[in-house]
Amino acid sequence: MNSTPTRTCLVCREKKDKSELFRIVEIDGQYMFDENQTMQARGTYVCKTHECIKRLSKNKKINLSNEDLYKMAITVKKAQKDYLSLLETMKRSEFLSFGINMVTEDIKRIHFLIIAEDISEKNDKRIMRLARENNIKYIHYGSKVQLGAIFDKPEVNLIGIKSKKVARGMTE
Ligand SMILES: [Zn+2]
Repeated sequence: MNSTPTRTCLVCREKKDKSELFRIVEIDGQYMFDENQTMQARGTYVCKTHECIKRLSKNKKINLSNEDLYKMAITVKKAQKDYLSLLETMKRSEFLSFGINMVTEDIKRIHFLIIAEDISEKNDKRIMRLARENNIKYIHYGSKVQLGAIFDKPEVNLIGIKSKKVARGMTE
């Protein structure tokens, strides 16, 4: 079964792999971004997505500094840029499966999943269950339209990486 620790995003309440979340700590009433996940304080977590960071910035109780919010946003932006161009260069290779049907068919050969951030809740649950059952790492990243553009489709909600080497490069 799934051995990677999961935490709940304090904004959207979704349970995710810890690597998909930023850690935030509270010290004497001041919230701080725990960039290296090592601060000795009780942590809460937020998704590494623009959507959740934006919503967090409007949260009055979680009084993160603008500098911390900016740092988080930049980290997300950097990661997204890399993934999009990386996928773009691989789009004609045999390493990619896309869409739920193709990915399900290929599941035994898949090593990493990229799930669109705006995928429906029902499909999201289905895919995360599939990922856990097959011990495949995943991230939520980009929109269906952004992922679709890679394959010249209007929308793609899921991409599977069939190369172990490429998958390792993406999860490092
Ligand atoms: Zn979230």
